[in-house]
Amino acid sequence: MATRNPETVVIIGSGPSAWTAAIYAARANLRPVVYEGEPSREMIPGGQLMYTTEVENYPGFVHGVTGPGLMDTLRQQAIRFDTRVEHENIASVDFSRRPFTLKPNYSDEITALTVIVATGARANWLGVPNEERLAQMGGGVSACAVCDGALPAYRDKVVAVVGGGDSAMEEALYLTKFARQVRLIHRRDSLRASKIMAERVLNHPKITPVWNTRVVEVIGYDSITGIRVEDTVSGEKSDMDVGGLFVAIGHTPNTAFLGGQVDLTPHGYIRTPKAWRTATSVDGVFAAGDVMDDYYRQAITAAGTGCMAALEAERWLAHHGFGESPVLETAEAPVRLTREWEATS
Ligand code: NAP
Repeated sequence: MATRNPETVVIIGSGPSAWTAAIYAARANLRPVVYEGEPSREMIPGGQLMYTTEVENYPGFVHGVTGPGLMDTLRQQAIRFDTRVEHENIASVDFSRRPFTLKPNYSDEITALTVIVATGARANWLGVPNEERLAQMGGGVSACAVCDGALPAYRDKVVAVVGGGDSAMEEALYLTKFARQVRLIHRRDSLRASKIMAERVLNHPKITPVWNTRVVEVIGYDSITGIRVEDTVSGEKSDMDVGGLFVAIGHTPNTAFLGGQVDLTPHGYIRTPKAWRTATSVDGVFAAGDVMDDYYRQAITAAGTGCMAALEAERWLAHHGFGESPVLETAEAPVRLTREWEATS
């Protein structure tokens, strides 16, 4: 791939926010490069939608669309407008000097005038004994039913899903295609999930809710044979035979690679100090999607903030002497600045 030195816009991530940012930046002739990341056990390029079967609430799809199908469409749309794509994670950044420096996992450092962080969030684990060990060795513990649920290991088994949110509902419904029975284990006696999803789950003949229960240990050496659970009301412990455990208890924003150089909220999301803006505490760095949004967390809102980030990056570049004047101007837009990194080099 032909790199630019510095790159004009580097977009880190590959969910709806990243691809939407790329579409807007590419159509503004900024030739963005997207670092879409590498597959790992917890994350595959494409973000959380890759773990979603049917997306029924993304506008424009009368009959819904699959999560991976939507991501592929957005990715192709970005590429059509001359977006370049790298299949690597960004391991670290240096935002202390301009142009910014970014270190991909394997290849050489790159520099960038502006950066859009759209790295999303990753699945949380329960943190109980044996959970991550079995997850890492493919022993029947997973944070992604769509990735793993169809594996022979889970066919016709009784499997457990932990969580009470929409993700847990999705996982439980998806697993009914393969498993004999799905036990939905939730630490309270009411679900956090949207009504429509909760109803689908509670009315499904293959799904049994297990209320007021938390998993305290995963049982099994080479692969899971059961889980030890605790009644959150009585404190009583018991064992439950299951052939699979799917953890769906929320997500943590992917910000570790920023090394504390961008202000975060108390929950670790990137802080965007101004209302209706994606600019972060670092001038020239913008954030979009689930990495900065712990409130809406929807594909369509992520796409919206991706659009906003690209427009803000375009405006930032124009104000710093790159490209045409941005179409959007407001009373608060600053005057054109000099390229201070060129003046000092
Ligand atoms: P979430 O809504 O935050 O739900 C997390 C669930 O896990 C909660 O029920 C929580 O219990 C439980 N939990 C958290 N920590 C736990 C622990 N240590 N032990 C046991 N249980 C624990 O997360 P999410 O389900 O991933 O959804 C995130 C966002 O994405 C939501 O806005 C959701 O609407 C959206 N989403 C939408 C769709 C869709 O529309 N198709 C699909 C998936 C996700 P409590 O309820 O007791 O806190």
